[in-house]
Amino acid sequence: MSEDVNADEAQVEERTFQTEVQQLLHLLIHSLYTQKEIFLRELISNASDALDKIHHRALTDKNVLDPDAELDIEIEVSSSNKTLTIRDRGIGMTRDEVNENIGTIARSGSAEFARKLAETDAEDEQEKLKLIGQFGVGFYSVFMAADRVVLTTRSADPDAEAVMWESTGDGSYTLAQADKAERGTEIKIYIRSDCEEFLDAHRVEAVIRKHSDFVSYPIKVAGKQVNDTAALWTRPRNEITDEQYNEFYTHLTGDQDEPLAREHVVVDVPIQFYAVLFIPKHSPAQWLFNPDPKISLNLHVKRVFIQDDCKDLLPLWLRFVRGVVDCDDLPLNVSRETLQQNPVIAKVRATLVRRVLGMLENMVKKDEEQYLTFWRAYGAVLKEGVAMEFEHKDQLAGLLRYHSSLEDDPEAYVSLQTYVDRVQSEQEKIYYLAGESKESIAQSPLLETFRKRGLEVLYLDEPVDEWVIQGLQQYSNKEFQAVDAADLDLGAEEEEVKLEGVDDEAKAETIELIDFLKKQLEGRVSDVVESKRLIDSPCVLVAAQGGMSQNMERLMKMADRDFEGSQRQLEINPKHDIIRNMGAVLKRDRDSAQLTDWAHFLVDFVLLGEGKVDDPQRIGRTLQVIMGAATARAAEED
Ligand code: ADP
Repeated sequence: MSEDVNADEAQVEERTFQTEVQQLLHLLIHSLYTQKEIFLRELISNASDALDKIHHRALTDKNVLDPDAELDIEIEVSSSNKTLTIRDRGIGMTRDEVNENIGTIARSGSAEFARKLAETDAEDEQEKLKLIGQFGVGFYSVFMAADRVVLTTRSADPDAEAVMWESTGDGSYTLAQADKAERGTEIKIYIRSDCEEFLDAHRVEAVIRKHSDFVSYPIKVAGKQVNDTAALWTRPRNEITDEQYNEFYTHLTGDQDEPLAREHVVVDVPIQFYAVLFIPKHSPAQWLFNPDPKISLNLHVKRVFIQDDCKDLLPLWLRFVRGVVDCDDLPLNVSRETLQQNPVIAKVRATLVRRVLGMLENMVKKDEEQYLTFWRAYGAVLKEGVAMEFEHKDQLAGLLRYHSSLEDDPEAYVSLQTYVDRVQSEQEKIYYLAGESKESIAQSPLLETFRKRGLEVLYLDEPVDEWVIQGLQQYSNKEFQAVDAADLDLGAEEEEVKLEGVDDEAKAETIELIDFLKKQLEGRVSDVVESKRLIDSPCVLVAAQGGMSQNMERLMKMADRDFEGSQRQLEINPKHDIIRNMGAVLKRDRDSAQLTDWAHFLVDFVLLGEGKVDDPQRIGRTLQVIMGAATARAAEED
């Protein structure tokens, strides 16, 4: 007998929580006092997931503990013991799983949560609440209402032993062998004295109805079922309230903010399926632009959960959509591997793509502001749909938004349709300029002549944009035209711009200067020509004929460090004082050393504006000479 006790004791281990968990627990216990009731939702949600898992597994694997156990969630309150107990007969956990799941924060979402939490100001409760809202805190939220928690669980693996986990939420927990014959998890919560409301069965029932009504397993409080187990997506749409949809969304995503949009899809022919789709207001960039992106749709078959993150249900460029899909026309034993080739899934996917695009088009029609919220959060993702897939590009073209040279507000967006609608009569092209940021694009001298002529230029400030333009080729019969192309032809007006105010002598000087610059700048630029497009700037660099655009080169360089960009062509503005003066100096003194410095400075000057300085020392030296001369002149004037 005493040996047994010793053997048991040997199995008791005390462990400390991962640092991030400790921080989170500290916050939950000491600084958050609102919305404590959500702990019930989180635990019920975990129980429901555990039931989903065993339900799914038992379809193909009869070798589980208690194969016929009832799939429900039981809740008991004991006001005399001051405990609330939640029991499920789900998949349970082994000792290792308990350590892994309840002692550490392993999920990517939680890890990001912990990182952000560490970054917030310790006093800023609002910020922390917002974070919790964004991520949800799962199991640990129980410590908002508990002094002590005892979790006893037994895995459905027939050989696994039951294990008991216990913690008061301070830095550590203990694990010990337990006596539990049935499969599943029981969580006994010792309710804190300031949270005794949760010892009142009516209060508990109300919380369940509010937050967990759509859980598809019976939730029983003192033996009485309190929820409606019909899966939310199978219920008539007009009987579901906004609150219920929102609660369901929170249950699925952990995001406690309302979704930006939702769509409840019910399809009967040719395939019978249901879906509830949500678009969150925002998603973490790390999640959206993860190198291994996910499609966060859960697949059910005839109400049975099959798998989460089912990548076959939507293309990656719609990965901002979250939700569930439940299909009646798939076999229950469908596997991850066979899903991809399944023709039913292909049809479901096609319908879902159509519905999501329809959702976005509706948003545009009803409320452009709301659509722009969407666009700011996910525009870069949606654009991938044009760049990588042909099929939906026309529909997607209507959803694109860009900053534009005609808008005074730098944050304003225009659609391609707006561009076309306000185009001047005979303009045949849609002009754009690609660059690193809307600010640097807006300052480009290449826009001068467009501004003067009242021609609109779209700013393409994201890496994917040029692929989008290449994919589209045209919109409303107008081709896209980069304004930094060397062969850009703006038509008749050009001649006037070019000749106005330039006499013959000046022209001859310009020709001389161009000749001189070509020699001096050999190796730095492909050619030097007189510009037809500049007004206020002395010079600009444009893509050589047939050459790649600057932005495309930037992308190539990102992909391949050794990529050698092609040289650009320098265009000079013969009416600009700097160019005129240089021409005059050249005429007087062909060997002026300063002229060589200035020649290079013309290129440096453009590169500076683009944020791409290749030789800062040389620029420094030239600037020093220029400032020397300028300050000397100013001193003399005195
Ligand atoms: P989340 O549920 O969002 O993953 P939690 O902190 O709530 O995060 O839970 C962590 C993990 O612990 C779960 O993913 C699950 O693997 C496990 N777990 C929690 N509760 C249960 C339960 N009742 N039965 C089985 N496993 C559970």
